Amino acid sequence: TDILTKTMADHGIYAAVGQGIKAYEGVDGHVTKVVTDQGEYPADLVVTAAGIRPATGFLKGVVDLDDHGLIKINDHLQTSDTDIYAVGDATLVPFAPTGKDNRIALATNARRQGRIAAKNLLGENVPMPAVSGSSALSVFDYHFASTGVKEGTADKLGVKTASVLVTDTIRPKFVSEDAGNTKVWFKLTFDPTDGRVLGAQIMSKYDVTANINAISVAIQAKLTVADLAYTDFFFQPGFDRPWNIINLAAQKAAATLN
Ligand SMILES: Cc1cc2nc3c(=O)[nH]c(=O)nc-3n(C[C@H](O)[C@H](O)[C@H](O)COP(=O)(O)OP(=O)(O)OC[C@H]3O[C@@H](n4cnc5c(N)ncnc54)[C@H](O)[C@@H]3O)c2cc1C
Repeated sequence: TDILTKTMADHGIYAAVGQGIKAYEGVDGHVTKVVTDQGEYPADLVVTAAGIRPATGFLKGVVDLDDHGLIKINDHLQTSDTDIYAVGDATLVPFAPTGKDNRIALATNARRQGRIAAKNLLGENVPMPAVSGSSALSVFDYHFASTGVKEGTADKLGVKTASVLVTDTIRPKFVSEDAGNTKVWFKLTFDPTDGRVLGAQIMSKYDVTANINAISVAIQAKLTVADLAYTDFFFQPGFDRPWNIINLAAQKAAATLN
């Protein structure tokens, strides 16, 4: 995020993080500035987005909701009224790295839940498979993706983590930048006691985000960094390094355990 924050600043976007909004000030009904506890920002338009709240009020008394208004479901996606199934952002999903239910608002999860709920409605007996919470995004030239537990969220999830960061080029050093060689950052997060893979993030100006799907598989299959250290990934100088970045990071992580 340090790199992305700087990239955004280079493009004229200032991320004023860690500030409390005190007031929106305006003239003749039009906003002119936002006042925070640390500064004032001139503004023509203000868009406020603060957290996510499920719009499930209409379900009160119909099915059980939790304190946040999320619809309570079992692993077959049935609500407290077993003839009513619920899926999507207003429910929790089983989170593969922790084995516990978690709130992960992604279309990927909603889509999987929808399919599983339909199977169960039609008489099959299918529990919802655990998900890793994988997502990707671009900010200007940078493409990045993330899956599983991040260091920043580990405490909240009650998980102990260790991480290694590998910074490399996506192709061998002899491939020039003009030929498409560029830097990649890859962070692998794992359980420091048994080396189980818990999460990862990748970022580059070249789109290498699909590596994160491999980590999602590793999380769901409960693989360890020792497993990933020598997993067979292809090498071809036009695409990759002799050691794939996942291998490199896993080897580094395994060495810390040894
Ligand atoms: C800007 C943005 C970008 C995103 N990008 C991605 C992405 O790239 N990949 C990804 O996996 N996820 C992405 N997501 C998340 C994804 O959109 C959600 O996880 C997904 O849409 C959840 O599906 P859902 O059916 O649970 O809820 P929704 O898609 O929100 O659908 C709920 C529907 O219920 C309707 N509704 C609400 N109350 C009532 C009522 N009382 N009566 C009738 N209808 C009602 C709403 O109008 C809405 O149409 C993104 C979300 C946002 C906001």
